[in-house]
Amino acid sequence: MQPLDTHPDFDESFRDSFAAVDDTTGKRNWFFPQKPTGKWHNRRVWFTIFQLTVMFGLPFIKVNGQPLFLFNVLERKFIVFGIFIGPQDYWLFGLMMISFFVFIVLFTTVFGRVWCGWACPQTVFMEMVFRKIEYWIEGDWKAQRALEKAPWNQEKIIKRTSKAILFLALSFLIANLLLSYFVGIDELYKIIAEPISEHLTLFLGISAFTLIFFFNFAWLRDQACTVVCPYGRLQGVLLDKNSVVIAYDYKRGEPREKLRKGAERTAGDCINCFQCVNVCPTGIDIRNGTQMECVNCTACIDACDNIMDKVGLPKGLIRYDSENNIASGKNKLITTRTIAYAVVLSALWIGLGYAILTRDDTETTLLRAPGSRFIENPDKSISNLYTFKLFNKTNHPITPEMRIISPNGTLKFAGIPNLHLNAAGMVEGSVIITLPKSEITKRRTEITLGIFANGEKLEEFKTSFIAPEE
Ligand code: SF4
Ligand code: SF4
Repeated sequence: MQPLDTHPDFDESFRDSFAAVDDTTGKRNWFFPQKPTGKWHNRRVWFTIFQLTVMFGLPFIKVNGQPLFLFNVLERKFIVFGIFIGPQDYWLFGLMMISFFVFIVLFTTVFGRVWCGWACPQTVFMEMVFRKIEYWIEGDWKAQRALEKAPWNQEKIIKRTSKAILFLALSFLIANLLLSYFVGIDELYKIIAEPISEHLTLFLGISAFTLIFFFNFAWLRDQACTVVCPYGRLQGVLLDKNSVVIAYDYKRGEPREKLRKGAERTAGDCINCFQCVNVCPTGIDIRNGTQMECVNCTACIDACDNIMDKVGLPKGLIRYDSENNIASGKNKLITTRTIAYAVVLSALWIGLGYAILTRDDTETTLLRAPGSRFIENPDKSISNLYTFKLFNKTNHPITPEMRIISPNGTLKFAGIPNLHLNAAGMVEGSVIITLPKSEITKRRTEITLGIFANGEKLEEFKTSFIAPEE
């Protein structure tokens, strides 16, 4: 059998319209998806509980008194898995981001939009939190539709107002959660405990994000995935016929036909009950094939499985599968494309691991002072003048020492050095290095220096020392 989308009778006209927009009026089609129930939904509930526990718990986890994750854009302070990334290591942050994106690309090519349905905070909060509150207050889809059409009577006012209050409260909670990742949980405590006037900017930030989240979950909803999200737009290039997606088995289901009691069934297994469409939060008909709007929420799998159960047919007419497996029973998870992505990803991860493991706590630039020459001292020793910049790449203050490791020599700061560095701080100054005549064998001598703190070497670096020609 030919793949569905290459069959001459296959009608692709559904791609000419966008389910969220009414073709005639151009107005928004507001979806009232039927409440999902079933095995996949239950699995998602458990996964959501786990995910929300992690999301809300992470800001409280600290490593050596510092958060495990912090994305303080304002102070340019980032902590990823307890690794502090200061201004000198932004390239490391960039490498982490590139690795993450390649991982997402590889993951999507093989497993489709699993991220969207299971882990994306937009879907998780929308479908598993806000939508559930909506079902609780307004009832299932038919009751919601009826309420929408009803005049603004007492019942509608009470239901809509209580829903808005709960949505707003949850949006406020999510805005606080977001802020805890930006400024850390300790700072958030302070903002909560101290008068608003002392943290007016952050308070305004929380208020703005509360309104943005409220707008998103109360009004924008499915359109955040189908219109706004760039990842959704990329599906056309990331997915191929071997990607595992939520798919309708058209070989088994077609031709679809209503079930007639007593009549012998000659059609396919799809009884055209539209349950898979009714539950879809993005309003699509998955029987048309993989579509950009599908967020892999699994609701249609459950809906169809429930129907198959009722009519005594095998489950799995809609399931996780690849286009190739449905068309020909053959699926290749490992293709040239996935191998290429995996190689790039492995190289990035190896590079990242090496960079993290060999990373020093400080970074020093020490250069001979511009325009300076060597100084010949009366005891025949030679001195060179240097300028230095010393960066603290850790997230705690340090008071390091600078020492010559080799050859033997002395190091003297010009002026009184203050090598106390705040977290991510920097100090600069001048230093004079003197080598005895016995250590100088040529015009240019390589010197190795080190930065030490609490008896531990934090960094080793080299510079050159100039002496007169013999
Ligand atoms: S097609 Fe199915 S999996 Fe995709 S969004 Fe709709 S209900 Fe969810
Ligand atoms: S739920 Fe299953 S049987 Fe019903 S229309 Fe959808 S695919 Fe066909």
